[in-house]
Amino acid sequence: MSLLKEGKLYSIFNSKCPSCNVGELYPDRNPYHLQNLAKMHKRCSCCRQTYEPETGFYYGAMYASYALSVAIVMPLMAVLHFVFHLEVIIMFSIIGGLVLVMYPLIFRWSRNLWLNIFVPYDPEKRRAVLSGEMK
Ligand SMILES: [Zn+2]
Repeated sequence: MSLLKEGKLYSIFNSKCPSCNVGELYPDRNPYHLQNLAKMHKRCSCCRQTYEPETGFYYGAMYASYALSVAIVMPLMAVLHFVFHLEVIIMFSIIGGLVLVMYPLIFRWSRNLWLNIFVPYDPEKRRAVLSGEMK
């Protein structure tokens, strides 16, 4: 199994159905079209997997968002401080700007990650979808 062609990481970073890895999670693939940022399909167009298991499901994605933000910010902060010896105000300006620019990506990755935690990947379903057995 290649991480780049199928599986959890593929689903998270390419916004694909967590179950079959073929269907799209969002009608608009570009997260920087902010008016469509949070618009999701109700279920997978290929395997019918629901994308909202319960009402308010994506409130939990805030935890994933926090974890992702920390995972991006902490190593960057360490590099800016220990390698480039930047002043705190410059460091926070750079990091704040980066987080602001990356916000749409982090938002979607968080939702994708949260959904992937609860929906298992099914390689057999992917095979069935791709071969046309499931429509
Ligand atoms: Zn699917």
